[in-house]
Amino acid sequence: MTRLLEVIDLQTHFFTRDGVVKAVDGVSFTLDKGETLGVVGESGSGKSVTAMSIMRLIPDPPGKVVGGDIIFKGDSVLEMTAQQVRSLRGNRIAMIFQDPMTSLNPVYRVGEQIGESVRLHKNASKQEAFERAVELLDLVGIPHPRERARDYPHQFSGGMRQRAMIAMAIANQPKVLIADEPTTALDVTIQAQILDLMNELQDRTGTAIIMITHDLGVIADMADKVLVMYAGRPVEYGSAADVFYNPKHPYTWGLLDSLPRHDVAMKDTLNPIQGQPPSMIRVPEGCSFHPRCPYARVKCIKEEPVLRHTEAEHGSACHFAGDDGFVRGEATACREVS
Ligand code: SF4
Repeated sequence: MTRLLEVIDLQTHFFTRDGVVKAVDGVSFTLDKGETLGVVGESGSGKSVTAMSIMRLIPDPPGKVVGGDIIFKGDSVLEMTAQQVRSLRGNRIAMIFQDPMTSLNPVYRVGEQIGESVRLHKNASKQEAFERAVELLDLVGIPHPRERARDYPHQFSGGMRQRAMIAMAIANQPKVLIADEPTTALDVTIQAQILDLMNELQDRTGTAIIMITHDLGVIADMADKVLVMYAGRPVEYGSAADVFYNPKHPYTWGLLDSLPRHDVAMKDTLNPIQGQPPSMIRVPEGCSFHPRCPYARVKCIKEEPVLRHTEAEHGSACHFAGDDGFVRGEATACREVS
């Protein structure tokens, strides 16, 4: 069976005056119809650059995909012509960006902008495109969609703008929907509504979703698989059950430990990962997480651990992640390196 999307050892680098930034360095994953992949990591971990690479939106120069491949339904996205990419983008693979205000054009009515995406790919008349926009606004839960389609973006609340962005992204029933931190700018109740809406749309259409987030909590209820990234590299990959209930990388443990718990007072439970993500110009040698890892050993600064996994398997890029290696909650913090 042909896979819907396969990312194989993707490497996207930026060539800057200060040096080469390996923003994505060896990322692989697969995605099938109806699946949701959560891509998790702190800012600068390469999540968004992975998404932009799939959409062929990396500005060249300074950026370039220097290795690996992206296969959509059997065809290499990297080898597509400009025309093929235009037809792919927004039509078969669509993206919802983090900040709807920067993605919606303030001088055009919301309905026109949603309709434009339909006209571009489906050769619809202006009236047909407007009717489709009204239908889509209704689908994403905007009340009085016919009237609201005539509003400008500034007349929409933050949550409504994000719904309008989702309407635009699903206008042509894409096979893959990439959502880059779609709920970060929204308050918690609206966040939950937007996630429910995406789940509902997925159930109806079978669209596969790549959900990019810095917050593991956001994807806990919706991801089938999880890819954890750090400093441009994949550090853990597996089914959501494996990553949430049997995480094998100390960075994933840190992300899980920093989630607030509703059953414990905030001051007793928040346990953030110490330190900051590294500068991408000077990524630490060996395991890039070693300056922040409470379990770092001498081997960690000398050798780079590589994530190895087969499709069905759960993999971790930690030297001590094997079956006889570290276990969350049992490993003793003991830094051999300073
Ligand atoms: Fe920590 Fe070493 Fe594992 Fe890296 S390889 S996560 S530094 S124990």
